[in-house]
Amino acid sequence: MPIQILTTEVASRIAAGEVIERPASVVKELVENSLDATSSSIHMEVRGGGVNLIKISDNGIGIPSEEAELAFQHHATSKLNSLDGLRKVSTLGFRGEALPSIAAVAEVELITRCATGTAGICLKLEKGIVTEKATVGCPQGTTVAVRNLFRFIPARLKFLKSTTTENAHIADVITHYSLAFPKVQFTLATEGREILHTSGNGKLEDVIAEVYGTEVATKMLRVNPPEQANNPHVTIQGYISPPHLSRASRRHLSFFINRRWIYSYLLNRAVEKTYEGMLMNGRYPMVILSLSMPPENIDVNVHPSKKEVRFLREQEVFSVIHQVVHDTLREQTPPPEMRLHPSPFHAPWQPQETVKSQEEVLLNTGPLNIDSHTSLPFLRVLGQMATVYIIAEGPDGLYLIDQHAAHERVLFEKILAQQQHSIGGTNEIEAQALLQPLTLELDIRQKEVIHSKGKLLEEFGFLLEPFGRNTYLVRNIPASLKEEKVDVVIKEILDSPDESMTSPQWVRKLATSIACHSAIRAGQILSPEEMRELIYQLEQTESPRTCPHGRPTMIHLSVGELEKGFRR
Ligand code: ADP
Ligand code: MG
Repeated sequence: MPIQILTTEVASRIAAGEVIERPASVVKELVENSLDATSSSIHMEVRGGGVNLIKISDNGIGIPSEEAELAFQHHATSKLNSLDGLRKVSTLGFRGEALPSIAAVAEVELITRCATGTAGICLKLEKGIVTEKATVGCPQGTTVAVRNLFRFIPARLKFLKSTTTENAHIADVITHYSLAFPKVQFTLATEGREILHTSGNGKLEDVIAEVYGTEVATKMLRVNPPEQANNPHVTIQGYISPPHLSRASRRHLSFFINRRWIYSYLLNRAVEKTYEGMLMNGRYPMVILSLSMPPENIDVNVHPSKKEVRFLREQEVFSVIHQVVHDTLREQTPPPEMRLHPSPFHAPWQPQETVKSQEEVLLNTGPLNIDSHTSLPFLRVLGQMATVYIIAEGPDGLYLIDQHAAHERVLFEKILAQQQHSIGGTNEIEAQALLQPLTLELDIRQKEVIHSKGKLLEEFGFLLEPFGRNTYLVRNIPASLKEEKVDVVIKEILDSPDESMTSPQWVRKLATSIACHSAIRAGQILSPEEMRELIYQLEQTESPRTCPHGRPTMIHLSVGELEKGFRR
């Protein structure tokens, strides 16, 4: 259908509101337009975190020359023309608001040609007004270049985060659309570096490999073939992670409804509920699930960004997701191996591994509670209990010390002190060179973080160098860290939940992660000397009573409490 201005009746029913909040919003709107134009190839180039330039070229149907100007009018769209259409939207766009909203806050250049046009048209706009219009020769398809975003809106510019952060948001959008449309070839170059390139061969597993690395791709489980998962109203396809593959944030829970990337609390819950008990605290699965359902069963006209949807049959969607994920995990994951515990006295038991989500680590960036700064009295080690706790006696009663948490505290402070020295250049970093470098496969986001935080990683003793597009070689690692923990530590650090962390937060996060994975674990038998040494070192720390995650390292039973208990 040609581009037309929506009638007031329809326009008034459309969720109103600002959509262009940051460069990634521009990218999202433009990519959606290219996909609605049935492009098979979409190339994007971004500079200055999207503020200087966002350029997208597609080979889609193009816009007829005579309609190009109209496309920049509010509520002008070729995708909708009636209230009935609004009830069953099957395109990604329908509001007719993106191009005018973008043109209002940036300089825009549009070059487009449709199949029937002999020549193309080039339009330039500033502050929403056409400043140049010319006939041009160009291939079929559309190129939109957006420059100087928010130049005249300093308040909006100020709100933007670093180039790395804005690029990460942009990469997120393109990554998700490449997962939703495996038949479309996507490329994305930020600041002159190509960071994503999908083949468009239609294989979702190939896109997953490009986006998350081949290692992840080979571990992911394909959800049950559609005929089993099917329900007359919902079809589900995609991949989910086995329980041993998890991430520290919900960022890898991706849902698409009729190929629209959406956020849904309901779907997150349905998946997380199914994994309950299989993952450690603070860990989340990776899922890429594509739901298809009749468009009239969902309402996408809830929020101007079209990222949230309302389901007509909410409970049913929840149950289908739960069922499909549950069946896939049951059928495709082997039962966990039985592991013998080294404790000679106790039944196998291991506390939840103390890998905390980064959100929790971040929450703990302020001063610790007052008590934690209280120094420790000298303690006499009496023994070990359950291969988890050290029992010690002090001047005022009994202390039960969590060996892992205590060691974490000791290492954390030591690592921080070393890093500070390495900045001052007064000390050599305590690092170990690996005989055989380790290879790490990283996804786009992780690569972006390495790019911007490589120097900091070096201050902690890591030495990483790029080795091919998605691979890095790890040559040096912090002295306290075991080789087999390197992968998990680096990924934990790179899967940051918030790229806007301040430098001290980054430093703390790195030290916490290295300390946590270097520390002795529960279940390890300690000799009396080892225990004495650990307690001695704990006594020297600044905050001996909490671990870097903020949990207590010890429980104190005072003589008074003991007497009360024994009613003496
Ligand atoms: P909407 O996508 O909601 O219709 P937009 O403001 O994003 O509104 O776009 C307005 C119109 O411009 C679209 O309906 C479409 O006809 C045309 N258009 C925009 N981008 C493209 C593109 N890349 N290829 C073909 N047509 C496009
Ligand atoms: Mg649009």
